[in-house]
Amino acid sequence: MKLYLPLIFAASLGLAACGGEQAAAPVESAPAAPSVSEPMPSAVSEPLAVSETEASAAETAAAPAAGECSLTVSSNDSMQYDTQDIRIPKSCASFTITLKHTGSMPKAAMGHNLVIAAESDVNAITADGAAAGADSGFLKAGDARVIAASDMIGGGEETSVSVDVAKLAAGGSYKFFCSFPGHAGIMNGTVSLVD
Ligand code: ZN
Repeated sequence: MKLYLPLIFAASLGLAACGGEQAAAPVESAPAAPSVSEPMPSAVSEPLAVSETEASAAETAAAPAAGECSLTVSSNDSMQYDTQDIRIPKSCASFTITLKHTGSMPKAAMGHNLVIAAESDVNAITADGAAAGADSGFLKAGDARVIAASDMIGGGEETSVSVDVAKLAAGGSYKFFCSFPGHAGIMNGTVSLVD
């Protein structure tokens, strides 16, 4: 007999919705309603907790040292930097960039560095770097076109490079990129001087 209660309840609702005269019928089956609605609150609260965690993580990541003479750039196993734009205040004599590799792949397979040069020199630098090989960090020894270059690192590693800001001419077009063979096409961005 109890199995038929939901059907009767549903049927009663249907009749009520249609404006029928049997409005008194739903009262008897009303106690069944609370047990159905109970699972709802807990199911809703879990996604909320996750989004709060994501929000706080985003706030932390979006707090670079704006206006200061240093910056951290992260890279990963997907051949990506986490920024496409490095802005260096003109007031800095030296600008320090910390490069992190948040991935887990070894340097030989997914190595990253951060090289700064005039945009017009990037292709020649990466071509000569590929020819120079892994032992030289995929950069030609003593390459005068390179304005700044960090060491090549693998997953879980971190390094830093200081940029002599005087080498960046106002109005010039500069890029930062990874000189590991095949990476610069994706791993690159703009370096600009700002007030
Ligand atoms: Zn790379």
